[in-house]
Amino acid sequence: MKRRSESILVVEDDPQIRSFICYALKQEGFPCLTAGGAQNALSTLVSSQVDLMLLDLGLPDYDGMDVIKKVREWSEIPIIVVSARDQDSEKAAALDCGADDYLTKPFSATELMARIRVALRHASRSAGSKAQSVYTVGGLTLDLERHLVFLDGAELHVTPMEYSLLALLFKNMGKVLTTQYILKEIYGVGYGTDTQALRALMAGLRRKIEKSPAKPRYILTEIGVGYRLVDE
Ligand code: CA
Repeated sequence: MKRRSESILVVEDDPQIRSFICYALKQEGFPCLTAGGAQNALSTLVSSQVDLMLLDLGLPDYDGMDVIKKVREWSEIPIIVVSARDQDSEKAAALDCGADDYLTKPFSATELMARIRVALRHASRSAGSKAQSVYTVGGLTLDLERHLVFLDGAELHVTPMEYSLLALLFKNMGKVLTTQYILKEIYGVGYGTDTQALRALMAGLRRKIEKSPAKPRYILTEIGVGYRLVDE
């Protein structure tokens, strides 16, 4: 069995789900820590080496959302919310609080592992190289230093707004960005509600980079929540 060095904290009050997740993690070689509630989770984070947290929102002592806010006061570790709450507004709220990703129960072990790998890769990338200037996914390349975009080796003309959007997605590769977050980042605070403008901008960009804009390969829509640039 492969052995991974990153340890994962599973915060879940349902013992059955907790052992299902731990079993799946151990199969992949991840050391696994567990907590049945929010306070226990926070004390484990302080006292042990944890590289990623899987967090249930419905906990017996505090709400998982409060755990995210608390942890984000002092730590940037990847947090993947694993919850039965499947409302888009809940997902967006968790992501806006600082969660990195969101998985709705029930989910498969395969899907969980894929999300964990993406989140860990993203974390090591942002820790290792703050100065990364060239990003690539598939045939799409963004050169931050030269301010250029390439598609299948050829330079692609994009508008300044399309470039800003693409740069934001590349810097957060693999991560779901909420519509609110994107709007704030690329248009500034005053435009926080103009989701129509973002949809139009996204449609224009997709026409340029996607072979089939209705079935995007690069920028995926997380319905009701936001967008994600694929990570591999
Ligand atoms: Ca629960």
